Amino acid sequence: MNLPDIKCLVTGGASGMGRAFTLSLARDGADVAFCDLDEAGIAEVEAAGRDLPGKVVGFVANVGIEQDVAKLIGDAYDALGGLNALVNNAGIFRDGLLVKPDKETGVVRRMSLDKWNAVIQVDLTGPFLCTREFAAKVIETGTRPAVLVNISSVSRHGNVGQSNYSAAKAGLVADTKLWAQELARYGIRTGVVAPGFIDTPILQAMRPEILDGLVKRVPLRRTGSTEEIYLAVKFIFECDYFTGRCVDVDGGLTL
Ligand code: NAP
Repeated sequence: MNLPDIKCLVTGGASGMGRAFTLSLARDGADVAFCDLDEAGIAEVEAAGRDLPGKVVGFVANVGIEQDVAKLIGDAYDALGGLNALVNNAGIFRDGLLVKPDKETGVVRRMSLDKWNAVIQVDLTGPFLCTREFAAKVIETGTRPAVLVNISSVSRHGNVGQSNYSAAKAGLVADTKLWAQELARYGIRTGVVAPGFIDTPILQAMRPEILDGLVKRVPLRRTGSTEEIYLAVKFIFECDYFTGRCVDVDGGLTL
């Protein structure tokens, strides 16, 4: 697909990678609707996108809530005059060990069910709901071709302290494969990008010594940029013979 023909919904578009995808897609001629929880952030991205070749329009919506997502897909379709692309980017993490004995008392602390559920709701249920409603809209409107990209993580391989996040991000890779098979007959391709350590507000908030420790594990010895992750999303959008696969953009971290 050519970017100027794309009408895309990006979730979590007010910050970090979602902001970069939204503005880069519009810079390259695509029309973009994005959603987020953060109203001030939405207004800032809309303002940043005002003079770009593509349209940029934001909506408040929680990807983990079924009614929000159903409304969002309709709103995005109406605002852009169609919808043929989706980036499931919104994500959160709530890290913790599964169990951890307290050094002094020996009492075993547990990862709370709330922490587990919060991450699964945004990072796995969110993409499920958005993809389901997106695919239904594409079929109902006879839109063809269409494409969707999920944003996973290096944590998909299983990262200590991230039972919830790793499960969600691995689940997204599995769903990308099966959605490729289920949805090909409707002209919908899929892809998933698994970033390593990327320079977004999450990393920018880390203590420098912790960040240095992380970067030492990366063969390319640096963090990635949001623009480098955008290149992978753009490749999946543009390459019509690509579907169902995961593109790891992690500086070699998982080699
Ligand atoms: P970010 O800067 O925190 O941006 C995520 C955005 O999603 C925020 O604007 C957030 O809004 C929004 N959001 C959170 N929950 C939402 C919900 N329920 N509904 C709608 N929007 C919601 O994070 P990022 O670093 O750009 O990460 C983007 C994606 O890449 C995530 O899926 C993350 O897991 C993945 N990833 C990131 C890295 C990295 O190194 N940064 C590496 C691998 C994968 P609020 O700010 O209002 O909460």
